[in-house]
Amino acid sequence: MRELEERIRRDGIVEDGDVLKVDSFLNHQMDVELFAAMGREWARLFAEEGVNKILTIEASGIGIACVAAQQFGVPVVFAKKSRTKNIAGDVYRVEVPSFTHGGVSDVIVSKRFLGPADRLLLIDDFLANGAALEGLLELARQAGALVVGAGVAVEKAFQPGGDRLRAKGLRVESLARIQSMSPGHIEFC
Ligand code: 5GP
Repeated sequence: MRELEERIRRDGIVEDGDVLKVDSFLNHQMDVELFAAMGREWARLFAEEGVNKILTIEASGIGIACVAAQQFGVPVVFAKKSRTKNIAGDVYRVEVPSFTHGGVSDVIVSKRFLGPADRLLLIDDFLANGAALEGLLELARQAGALVVGAGVAVEKAFQPGGDRLRAKGLRVESLARIQSMSPGHIEFC
């Protein structure tokens, strides 16, 4: 999506360690008009899929998922990073390694909000090694829900997540795909 690529070129900051900072428009300060354009694009791409719910992961996926959900007219469920071990059996649970922080989060969704009747679109801000989306896929699997695809804002295509998920048969629609980046330079696919 040209508008997102242009914004990344203008305002994105490449940090050491293969991290792109987009906190002036995507995951700290948020440009909601840009989010709306992204939501319209995912709604167009997944129009035939009968999406009835969007599933994302705390925290930075939530804003884009909410704006996208308005285009689909469906609710959003966000998987929560849990601090307390919940052993009551009322949640689906998965461990997700964090790309940006290191460490592993225990990620949960209440069994009340996902189930076999759901046709899910997964949404996240970045796709790097694929751990976040793999975690959401696992939660959907536990719920017996169908995942129709994943909408990603920024895919770092030089990292293995996108290829890995597509090889598994997941439809991944990334609105900007970065082929390579270094401080001061970003090349799109
Ligand atoms: P993955 O799980 O695919 O390795 O990484 C995706 C998650 O890590 C996203 O939810 C996102 O929050 C974070 N992430 C990965 N790469 C970047 C990056 O370059 N910049 C930012 N801001 N977040 C990233």
